[in-house]
Amino acid sequence: MQTLTVFCCTFSLAANSLSQSQQKSGAKMGTVTIRWFGHAFFLVSDGIKLAIDPFKNLEGYPNPVVAADVVLVTHDHFDHNKTEVIKGNPQVVRGQGKKSAKGMEFLGVKTFHDSNNGKDRGENTVFVFEMNGIRLAHCGDLGHVLSDQQVKEIGRVDVLMIPVGGFYTIDAKAAWQNVEKIKPKVVIPMHYKQPSMGDGLPIAGVDVYLQGKKNVTKLDKNILTLEKEKLPQETSIYVLNYK
Ligand SMILES: [Zn+2]
Repeated sequence: MQTLTVFCCTFSLAANSLSQSQQKSGAKMGTVTIRWFGHAFFLVSDGIKLAIDPFKNLEGYPNPVVAADVVLVTHDHFDHNKTEVIKGNPQVVRGQGKKSAKGMEFLGVKTFHDSNNGKDRGENTVFVFEMNGIRLAHCGDLGHVLSDQQVKEIGRVDVLMIPVGGFYTIDAKAAWQNVEKIKPKVVIPMHYKQPSMGDGLPIAGVDVYLQGKKNVTKLDKNILTLEKEKLPQETSIYVLNYK
């Protein structure tokens, strides 16, 4: 396996395209669903379907069948950029700055894949976007503790998808330092070791990250449905099951 990326985006959907797509998909008004396929690969939807960091043939994970309207790629490593596996002829969004696609807006914040200003593993984008009033950020293969300037650029985050496995990305400790800086309401850990992976992989399992943490919920499913008014007041960690 190679390195991971962390990215976060912020954006909002146009009301018209949102309601149209909700009608099309049957998504419940006002909710955001977050589905995790393992590693950094998610499908986030409020009607519009947004895939993030798709992989193919990655050790330890099955290949899911996913259709989306937009695909975000946090960095061009093989375990994050397999846009060709996403069905539905999606628009692909990469890179930093403000982007828009299918009526959504995204903010790509420049970060690095290592703690050496990108000299070891290159740049990474944290993507931030908004759905139904909920601001979400996906950290890709973030490799360092965020600077105050980066935290400011990222802005308010309700839901943070963050790598915790270490070696290719930030480890459990640095991930928590970022959580304390960003102060999201919901944290979804990603990019960590699974029992289905070989012993040789130098990343840690999620339990290292969870040690000593409050408000931890382990879900026996790969989907989490959120509503803005029902978000937890205190930072809460949700561990999804990709199976
Ligand atoms: Zn990577």
